[in-house]
Amino acid sequence: MDADRAAWEQRSVVRVVPPVEPRKLAKVPFVELADGRLQGVVSSGSDIERVYVSSINAGTHALSCSTNNNRPCGALHGYACKHIRMLADEAVLQYGMDRVARYLRVEVAEHGDLIDSLNRRVERTPAAVVFSRFLRHLAYLEVPDSTEPLAELHWFPAMGAVR
Ligand SMILES: [Zn+2]
Repeated sequence: MDADRAAWEQRSVVRVVPPVEPRKLAKVPFVELADGRLQGVVSSGSDIERVYVSSINAGTHALSCSTNNNRPCGALHGYACKHIRMLADEAVLQYGMDRVARYLRVEVAEHGDLIDSLNRRVERTPAAVVFSRFLRHLAYLEVPDSTEPLAELHWFPAMGAVR
């Protein structure tokens, strides 16, 4: 286990919602069911400097994947790229298949694959919206344990509003 991964795992101790199964935080540091999407941040397999922001829309099942600089993911062409697959796998570990499937409104056969069960199409979601949520999430993890009310929401201007 490398130091980065150990750091992520230590930080994960303060998570509000413990994962159903242990997750690979180094690969998919952030996953959430929010804003009508399964969305998150996926590390690039090849470039340590780059991350992908991936999402699956609930209901429409539109797929989106781009870098944090809003460059479209070259591997997303009507079927899920590996980032979206990793995101889906980690979401199932984090929330359990039932909860993820319910949120996305998708029927997954017993032992079925979440991605294969989607009615897929590509629709780009601005990465900045998801990425700013990730940054807030990271900042939250830096907050020491305390029973005092957190002023964290006052620290951050509405970063997501910039287009
Ligand atoms: Zn991708």
